Amino acid sequence: MDIEQIYKDADALLEGHFILSSGNHSNRYLQSAKVLEDPKRAQLLATELANIIKQSGLKIDTVCAPALGGLLAGYELARALDVRFIFVERKEGQMQLRRGFSVEKDEKVLICEDIITTGGSAMEAAAIMEQNGANVTAFAALANRGFCQRRGSDTPRKPECKLPGDVPFFALEDFEFAMYEPADCPLCKAGGEAIKPGSRSK
Ligand code: ZN
Repeated sequence: MDIEQIYKDADALLEGHFILSSGNHSNRYLQSAKVLEDPKRAQLLATELANIIKQSGLKIDTVCAPALGGLLAGYELARALDVRFIFVERKEGQMQLRRGFSVEKDEKVLICEDIITTGGSAMEAAAIMEQNGANVTAFAALANRGFCQRRGSDTPRKPECKLPGDVPFFALEDFEFAMYEPADCPLCKAGGEAIKPGSRSK
């Protein structure tokens, strides 16, 4: 499966001149929500990710996603793995388990995101699960921005990665972008203006 082509077809992999959330500039940008706009495409990607997880032999009881970004990918992954789905969400800045969701002691939970950059939100979700007695047995994302090392990839882990080194991380593809400090950005030097797509628009 050509994951990069699927992202391009969905207008989820943008080319141009962008300001990343880190403040650095790049010629590419992933607008992850766009790849999930078509439920059939979302299902296709989640089924592929589920197959990789199943092949690992790892047992998963529950998929938990941090809202909002992980909801769609996590829900589709739970469907493909045939397990239940819960989510955690931010209230007054703090990630919390709400809405009557609970986990049992030693329940095997996989934390799912649409994209893992450094894994900060995923780690907040994992902390909530463990405070509630569950075991976080894996992390998963459709896309990996190349800071963390996904199972089966030669792209090494970078110091920015917050995921634990001893818990498996599954993803479909590495999306490594050239990143530039604004002062050194060749696109700026060529006279272009960087845009910040963020979560609001293209
Ligand atoms: Zn620039």
